[in-house]
Amino acid sequence: MASGNEALQNFMDGLEKRNPGEPEFHQAVMEVAATIIPFLDNNPKYREMQILERMAEPDRVVSFRVCWEDDQGNIRVNRGHRIQMNNAIGPYKGGLRFHPSVNTSVLKFLAFEQTFKNSLTGLPMGAGKGGANFNPKGKSSNEIMRFCQSFMTELYRHIGANVDVPAGDIGVGAREIGYMFGQFKRITNSFEGVLTGKGLEFGGSLVRNEATGYGAVYFLQNMLKAAGNDVSGKVAVVSGSGNVATHAAEKLMQLGARPVTLSDSGGYIHDPAGFTQEKLDWIKDLKNVRRGRISEYCDEFSGSTFHEGKRPWEVPAEIAMPCATQNELNLDEAKMLIKNGVVAVSEGANMPTSNEGVDAFLDAGVVFGPAKAANAGGVAVSGLEMSQNSARISWGVDQMQEQLRQIMEDIHGRCETYGKDYGREGMTDYVAGANIAGFAKVASAMMAFGVV
Ligand code: NDP
Repeated sequence: MASGNEALQNFMDGLEKRNPGEPEFHQAVMEVAATIIPFLDNNPKYREMQILERMAEPDRVVSFRVCWEDDQGNIRVNRGHRIQMNNAIGPYKGGLRFHPSVNTSVLKFLAFEQTFKNSLTGLPMGAGKGGANFNPKGKSSNEIMRFCQSFMTELYRHIGANVDVPAGDIGVGAREIGYMFGQFKRITNSFEGVLTGKGLEFGGSLVRNEATGYGAVYFLQNMLKAAGNDVSGKVAVVSGSGNVATHAAEKLMQLGARPVTLSDSGGYIHDPAGFTQEKLDWIKDLKNVRRGRISEYCDEFSGSTFHEGKRPWEVPAEIAMPCATQNELNLDEAKMLIKNGVVAVSEGANMPTSNEGVDAFLDAGVVFGPAKAANAGGVAVSGLEMSQNSARISWGVDQMQEQLRQIMEDIHGRCETYGKDYGREGMTDYVAGANIAGFAKVASAMMAFGVV
């Protein structure tokens, strides 16, 4: 029986052969397999039952045509998808992404990551992901509505409160969830908790909007505390300017750190004075209501600069939070952050750091919170939204904030359990810890079901 590097190579060779042309999926599985294979050496029952191989094969992949009419009367065609990855511990659960880069590889990587993330929350949620190669940028609200309705007209067959419960992700926020929920309700004549991230008037949960960004900062706070350090007083660089980024910056600010950058696909803004609540509210309005570009910030707030076509990792900071998209922080950028004195990284986005970048941070002793642990707050509050929908109740803001804070502390604890024994020696390796803790629960459930 091969073990160590040879076992990893054999496993990855097979996976790449079965899934050609899917680099993001290969990357996500590689990161997990590198830490799980040593764990399998100590727990051969999981290897005998081929649990990792089974987890890397989706339960099913659905693709479908989405036709809609634009404001000029042209017929447009996009491709929609839903990956139902694993439902061993609960209904499939994971977001929908509308972005031109969406394809099977991207969604399989996200769905695979979601398996471990949802397990880590301690809540009964399986894993899925979906979306379309639709670009919402520059579309009118009516066009967005027609697209969402057409997308749901096929998706509704595959989802349900006890089957698969999608949420938002890049390009899918409160507006899109509203349109999709409306169409689901119209087609099925059923009011059920089939989506999360809903408006508060129709079954949504308080704190869902803030949960991913806030949660990623709570996770950072837990990691720094365990290392005898603190968030307060530190300069932070944040990328993105969507849901996750703006709320991460907000919580950093509330805890006494100084977030100084945000970005979008056009470049980044640098405000050395740091963001205030007033500035962040202006950015949220710019992005969610006026649908503008982050560069407009510099016309409004003096002392700030816009860096076209660049990413914020060149700005010296002690904290870095990538919160935009996958592979937005590479090895060279990781080295630059290390050279400039970064002490902690918490991933708000999914797989934002390349595997080489992650290794560089760990080798340098930087406290590193991987996405599947650090950004699990969003799906955790989605899980609480499902509970509230099932029980037909709604919890207050204090209760929700406290549950989110507690869940992030618990996830940190689960990562520590395995992260001290596996991965890099002499430190808590949160990458290994998150992968193994997430794996162990799903693996045990799959063992109980036998060969299915
Ligand atoms: P939003 O759509 O609200 O914001 C996305 C942000 O990322 C925008 O600022 C966007 O800029 C930027 N961005 C997207 N693609 C690129 C790119 N290729 N290069 C540079 N910038 C880019 O999405 P979210 O904030 O919801 O999601 C951000 C990340 O967090 C994603 O990785 C998502 O999977 C992850 N995540 C989100 C959760 C949630 O609850 N929303 C939960 C867990 C993880 P632009 O407008 O120019 O495209």
